[in-house]
Amino acid sequence: FYIVNGCSLTSGADRKCRRMINSIYKKNPETKVIITGCYAQSHPYLDSINQSKSLIVPQYLKEFIPEIATNQFRANRFSPLLLKDYLKERMQMRINAFAGRSRAFVKIQDGCSDYCAYCIIPFMRGNPKSKKAEIIIKEISGLVKAGFQEVVLTGINLGVWAEDLSGELSLSSLIRQIEKIKGLKRLRLSSIGVQHINKELIQVIADSGKLCKHLHISLQSGDDFILNKMQRKYSVSKYLGKIEQIKKAVENISFTTDIIVGFPGESNEHFKNTLKAVKIVGFLKVHIFPFSPREKTQAYCLPEKVALKTIEMRKQQLKDTAMQVSLLFRKSLLNKTVQVLFEQQEQDYSIGYSDNYVPVKVYGCKNLENKLLSIKVIRVTINHTFGRLL
Ligand code: SF4
Repeated sequence: FYIVNGCSLTSGADRKCRRMINSIYKKNPETKVIITGCYAQSHPYLDSINQSKSLIVPQYLKEFIPEIATNQFRANRFSPLLLKDYLKERMQMRINAFAGRSRAFVKIQDGCSDYCAYCIIPFMRGNPKSKKAEIIIKEISGLVKAGFQEVVLTGINLGVWAEDLSGELSLSSLIRQIEKIKGLKRLRLSSIGVQHINKELIQVIADSGKLCKHLHISLQSGDDFILNKMQRKYSVSKYLGKIEQIKKAVENISFTTDIIVGFPGESNEHFKNTLKAVKIVGFLKVHIFPFSPREKTQAYCLPEKVALKTIEMRKQQLKDTAMQVSLLFRKSLLNKTVQVLFEQQEQDYSIGYSDNYVPVKVYGCKNLENKLLSIKVIRVTINHTFGRLL
């Protein structure tokens, strides 16, 4: 049987999933397909597919697929009814990903109720739900014992962690607890909303010997008119002000972000403001998303759609600007010492990430995987950063 783990973030991703499912059935009409991921939760196309040959497993039950599939095959039937049995285990949200042997991702939160105008996630993942602190600590301790050096805390909306739990908990207090785990070398946040970064969290990042000096904070647009239409919960000046505050408190911290180009109504002037904001922050990396209208979302029906040609042009312009500012940031690290956790070997290069999330290549060394080492940054090019072992 096949498993299709489909993304549904953009309409392009939807199309790819649909094509893949069709081509599987075309090649093997009798095969069974398990469809999961966000795509499994929202798409009307799924209503039309053969229910006896396919099983739709919602995103939040994805980790139970081996169990579900085994039971269904053992029972010699393919039925969605058995899925109910797994629902009660849902909130355990076990560890769900690894990057090689060095970095593990621990999901501590799911769901979002912000309803940004373009985003389908609240419709698919529901309201925020947090994993309890004691379970998180237990999972991370287990990972450290298994040899992982870095743990990344992930969630759809990390900043609201614990809002649905009782007690005086916050992300900052959780981080302070996690830091105490013996043997854990590095801790990283996957992404966080700028409105959730408070003085306490900035202090935790500044004080911590374990929390990485890197934050992924979605900007989406550098223009207040567009941010307002997107229903984001900050203004450009608030965003930039917070970045300034963090830079002052934490030396060499890096920032990465997501930006949508071609949101309905985005004029050249609005887009120029985005380029300006990208330069001011000096992002290490910008993930660029062309606007993709999603059914159910508010932005789906918005007028003043931006022409595809314009979106392509803006994407390229933003990409060029992002590369230039990344180069500048990485050049600022030249001759400095960074701590790199090595993850892989590519021919003569060992590659790993610095604590401020710069991928660093070191020539001529072998067997560095899963080692955390001091590296001097010796050369920076538009695409790469090179270092030498100290
Ligand atoms: S905060 Fe993020 S996940 Fe939540 S609605 Fe906005 S874009 Fe989507």
